[in-house]
Amino acid sequence: MVRFTALLMVLVLAASALAGAQSTGTPTLVIKRAGSRAIERAPEANFTGDVRVERLYDAIDPSHASGGFVTFAPGARTAWHSHPGGQILLVTAGTGRVQLWDQAIQEIGPGDVVTIPAWTKHWHGASPRASMTHLGITEQRDGTAVQWMEKVSDEQYNGVLSSPQQQPHTPAQAVQAEQTAPASNRQQGTTRPSGELQPRIAPGLATLTDDVLYGDVWTRPELSPRDRSLVTVSVLIATGRTAQLAGHLGRALTNGVKPSEASGVLAHLAIYCGWPSAVSALEVYDQVYKARTVDTASLGAVSPRLPAPGSEAERARATRAELEAVAPKFVQLTNDVVFDDLWRRPDLSARDRSLVTIAALAAMGDDDQLDVYLRRGVESGLTRAQIAEALTHLGFYAGWPKATTALAAVTKTLGK
Ligand code: MN
Repeated sequence: MVRFTALLMVLVLAASALAGAQSTGTPTLVIKRAGSRAIERAPEANFTGDVRVERLYDAIDPSHASGGFVTFAPGARTAWHSHPGGQILLVTAGTGRVQLWDQAIQEIGPGDVVTIPAWTKHWHGASPRASMTHLGITEQRDGTAVQWMEKVSDEQYNGVLSSPQQQPHTPAQAVQAEQTAPASNRQQGTTRPSGELQPRIAPGLATLTDDVLYGDVWTRPELSPRDRSLVTVSVLIATGRTAQLAGHLGRALTNGVKPSEASGVLAHLAIYCGWPSAVSALEVYDQVYKARTVDTASLGAVSPRLPAPGSEAERARATRAELEAVAPKFVQLTNDVVFDDLWRRPDLSARDRSLVTIAALAAMGDDDQLDVYLRRGVESGLTRAQIAEALTHLGFYAGWPKATTALAAVTKTLGK
């Protein structure tokens, strides 16, 4: 009897549990379709720059978390603030920055998930040159999701970046920031330019990369980082190494090459390396420009032509004397299109064109053509020491034999 009563109790409890589950009614599935939600400008009081917010969902009882996409234009950011219940940021696009009060700024990219502890003063936003979008999931406490504080000043925004990104404009930082490697690789915290694969697969290469190429050559003051980038990008385009071009084009922009100059390199190298080399680089340029939200509409602007160098008349005469009888059309194109048009376009200085041409010719092994461009380079402001340093740098990107023969041409043309 006791046993029967116990069994009955179990059955009654089970039945009532079942009834309880069924009594909640038919569940409703809510789908707010993509594109149907309003995108609003974030209030100026609490944000700097152009910030757009798309509220995705409000808290569902018993949860207190709501979510939304926030897109920051380059340079845009929140004010300092804290969340009583903390916050999760999931970066979906671009490059951004986040900082806790009294700590270094951290760079964040697609796939990174950032956890902001409760009641912790912080800000988040885009990087200076690229926009950033994150999904923000924020917990309310007692009806409050955020406590706003003062704005993030330009000085604070441009402050020290944390390792692994290190200081802005150092070679390692530029390489890391521009790496197209997945975010998971960046998060491993390596500060070495050799990244993750080189030390594992080719330790000797990693040592050369870290200690010699980035630890020594890129930092040498004999040639600016901008000039080194012009040389590197020119070599990569001339030799068709588009796999490495994205990182180095981004780095060139970081090192001070303007987008109009980077694009000017393409027309220039179409002439010196052939159309396929320039055209093959277009998609990489497109990716890098999009990632950095470069305004391509501004690239078409043409201002007055540069003056021709003093030696131009003599060069044109020499070309005519040598080739007019055989190929008059080629001579006309050389004099009118290459030297009177391309070399006088204002999107690249004559000095930069000389550097780009020397790098491309050396990388392709066209050393017997170097003579005129070495002279032109010196005429437009390149020193022999800078040319020698550019070719030393080039050894790493085009190979030692190419650098060696080009340096021999420098000695022949400009003397020891
Ligand atoms: Mn926040």
